[in-house]
Amino acid sequence: MEKFDVTVIGSGPGGYVAAIRCAQLGMKTALIEKYPSLGGTCLNVGCIPSKALLDSTEHFHKATHDFEEHGIELKGLKVNLPKMIERKRGVVKQTVAGIDYLMKKNKITVYTGHGSFVNKTTIEIAKADGSKEQIESTKAIIATGSKPASLPGIEIDKKRIITSTEALELQEIPKHLIIIGGGVIGLELGSVYARLGAKVSVVEFMDSIIATMDRGLGKELQRLLKKDLGFDFYMKHKVTGVTSKGKEVIVSADNDKGEKIELKGDYCLVAVGRKPYTENLGLDKAGVKVDARGRIETDEHLKTNVDNIYAIGDVIKGAMLAHKAEEEGVFVAETMVGQKPHINYNLIPGVVYTWPEVASVGFTEEQLKEQGKKYKVGSFPFKASGRARASMDTDGFVKVLADEVTDEILGVHMIGPRCADMIAEGVVAMEYRASAEDIARMSHAHPTFTENMKEACLDATAKRPIHL
Ligand code: FAD
Ligand code: NAD
Repeated sequence: MEKFDVTVIGSGPGGYVAAIRCAQLGMKTALIEKYPSLGGTCLNVGCIPSKALLDSTEHFHKATHDFEEHGIELKGLKVNLPKMIERKRGVVKQTVAGIDYLMKKNKITVYTGHGSFVNKTTIEIAKADGSKEQIESTKAIIATGSKPASLPGIEIDKKRIITSTEALELQEIPKHLIIIGGGVIGLELGSVYARLGAKVSVVEFMDSIIATMDRGLGKELQRLLKKDLGFDFYMKHKVTGVTSKGKEVIVSADNDKGEKIELKGDYCLVAVGRKPYTENLGLDKAGVKVDARGRIETDEHLKTNVDNIYAIGDVIKGAMLAHKAEEEGVFVAETMVGQKPHINYNLIPGVVYTWPEVASVGFTEEQLKEQGKKYKVGSFPFKASGRARASMDTDGFVKVLADEVTDEILGVHMIGPRCADMIAEGVVAMEYRASAEDIARMSHAHPTFTENMKEACLDATAKRPIHL
């Protein structure tokens, strides 16, 4: 039986990053992945393919709506959806090949097959050809990720009633796509198909979309998705059932006054969150405990209740984000060799890749109010930015929340062009505990979208933006 210092089960951004860091630190490392393609949800059916389609469709949307104003005239513009999907597959293939390369480079032994614990140090790999192999491992990291959740009584047929996985592979543009859930997946994939001409209706249980982010962002994004892409929103509606017959789907929901609605469309995307994935992992044989929501329980070192087994990423508590999983992968590897790594969970940024993009880090206004913290608000709209006018991206704003007394930045929330990239400045500022004045006094290249951050900080620190 082959012996390893550490075995990682699951090759998503949590698992493959953990494996690389373990190998870098000198551990003999194995990685087990049940699919032949490494990279997990993120690379195969999540972050990367969704961003590929978001980019393609944003080009089409701009070509259709903005090019003429730029002085570019196009005739006979049309979408070739199968080709768009094919390009997306190519992007995934290349990205996944990069992970294969990294595994070889770091001398990580990759096993393809379903991994399960036989006991706390023996792991069995069940391969596609029916054969089985066992390995011994002193330590193990569970990085098995998550799967789409559904609602009671709703059967996902994967044809008309679909999850994000199928939505990334549609071969026709829906006429009317009904989306259950106004969260990140619903709004990103809704944008993809709305830009291609689909009617999109979102049925959301809460009174706000992207409800965990600062409320101001959800409000602005909802307004813009209605204005730019014609989204319909059914807020405070709880879906009670979905049926499909032939090419039709019917979604039934109750609003908060108890009134019933029925929506008819040709596809229904169920995007109501994801659940931790621990099926047939043999947790009972290793003695690993899960919490009431099926997540693997971990302590502050991301160690499970079993001494030699750790868990990271979507399968444990916390935000289901690729970069959170990656940080945890590095954290666990370094912890195993006696280092003292640290993760500041409050400073893990959240991004929604709609257009405009939405990005956030630190505390929201709602959280600061709840804490009774005295804070100042600074904000700066993109319509006052020369760079945004040049690119016709004048919707949105940057909002900075700073401590009333010390001026320390407590939260940065933005909606606008390239905010997904711009939020990094907020992360750096907050990691170094910068004040709003610190950022306001730093040179930001002109003309760039980042000037909005400087101006919002000027507004927060002393109510003295220059360009407003
Ligand atoms: P996963 O990526 O889910 O990987 C787990 C792996 O473990 C899988 O490959 C699975 O096959 C394997 N596995 C499970 N059980 C076993 C077993 N017993 N044996 C062997 N292998 C096993 N996050 C972002 O930060 N940014 C984004 O833009 C973003 N976009 C997304 C878009 C979509 C449509 C979706 C669905 C998700 C998106 N996410 C995004 C979330 C992101 O994909 C996840 O947070 C991330 O993939 C979690 O990483 P992980 O390593 O914990 O698990
Ligand atoms: P989500 O938690 O973001 O949103 C689900 C939404 O569904 C919530 O707003 C919830 O109120 C609503 N909902 C739940 N039950 C409902 C019901 N019965 N009727 C109507 N609405 C209902 O989940 P998601 O969008 O499925 O995404 C899953 C995970 O994937 C998220 O945790 C997210 O972090 C991750 N993800 C991240 C990105 C990104 O970082 N850009 C992109 C996609 C997915």
